[in-house]
Amino acid sequence: MSSPIKLADHYNGEQCAISFELFPPKTDAGMDLLEKNVERLKAFQPSFFTCTYGAGGSTQSRTLDVVQRVRELTGLPVASHLTCVGSTVGQLGEYLAEAKRRGADYIVALRGDPPKGSESFQAVEGGLRYANELVELIQERFPDQFGIAVAGYPEVHQEATDAQTDLDNLKRKVDAGADVIVTQLFYDNDDFYRFRDACQAAGIRVPIVPGILPVTNYKQALRIAGMCKARIPDQMAAAMNENDDADYQFKVGVDHARVQTIDLIENGVPGIHYYVLNKSDAAGQMLDGLSLGMQS
Ligand SMILES: Cc1cc2nc3c(=O)[nH]c(=O)nc-3n(C[C@H](O)[C@H](O)[C@H](O)COP(=O)(O)OP(=O)(O)OC[C@H]3O[C@@H](n4cnc5c(N)ncnc54)[C@H](O)[C@@H]3O)c2cc1C
Repeated sequence: MSSPIKLADHYNGEQCAISFELFPPKTDAGMDLLEKNVERLKAFQPSFFTCTYGAGGSTQSRTLDVVQRVRELTGLPVASHLTCVGSTVGQLGEYLAEAKRRGADYIVALRGDPPKGSESFQAVEGGLRYANELVELIQERFPDQFGIAVAGYPEVHQEATDAQTDLDNLKRKVDAGADVIVTQLFYDNDDFYRFRDACQAAGIRVPIVPGILPVTNYKQALRIAGMCKARIPDQMAAAMNENDDADYQFKVGVDHARVQTIDLIENGVPGIHYYVLNKSDAAGQMLDGLSLGMQS
């Protein structure tokens, strides 16, 4: 019998493991560019890549194309994100079977956001209401066949009534069989450290991996922070606001992510997940000279 597939195994080493998150491009030209950037990102020795599912209105069918292609290109493990949005349990099961067939090693199991224009998330008939139910489904239908990551929120999920309830709900996902938590992006590491302490106090024992986005301009920082409800620290906002020159803003954003990275390593994180938005320039500059990733 083969041993269970565990995502947590990447975080056992002494070196801080890194992973890169991609999204499915809408066009063939976008796919070509993604392939070039994946080749460049591979040089930073990531432990694995992930590809989002339906985020920001992107097509769901292309997620597994990206998973398969990145696996072929890099030979590295790849995770498919999967949400409960618009799918019955039967359709989720079919997706998981197809993901397995096309080489996905891990699943990032999510509930997903309410569709544009809806105030709250509504499960479809025969669908699932929360991410913990998706984790249960994966473990029931594909026991030990996927490593499973779930989402954690250092600044508390926007729909949660309070931080403790959000944490109790996070623990449900871990108890259902998730073996890693990857966090929503944040710009102030203190938010992450508070969250990590609270997870420990709540008895959550799986690796907690911070999610970092190297922003490249202030407009983008505001847009993404608005979407994810992440707070932009005053100092970062002031620095980015100082000058609207594109190169200047790129440098401030990348420097901020680099300072966050160094501080996180000094504070003992087992790994960092980078939201690279299918690009490689910002990640390249941010990681340049830092000794991260898998040891060769
Ligand atoms: C690392 C990461 C990757 C992501 N990738 C994608 C992606 O690919 N595609 C995409 O569309 N979105 C993605 N998202 C966004 C995510 O879908 C949203 O943040 C969504 O609003 C919540 O998803 P979740 O899995 O955290 O939901 P859940 O864990 O289900 O939580 C949703 C809300 O319900 C509450 N809750 C949870 N369980 C229960 C329960 N059993 N009973 C009562 N209340 C409960 C929680 O406290 C929370 O407020 C990602 C987010 C992160 C952090």
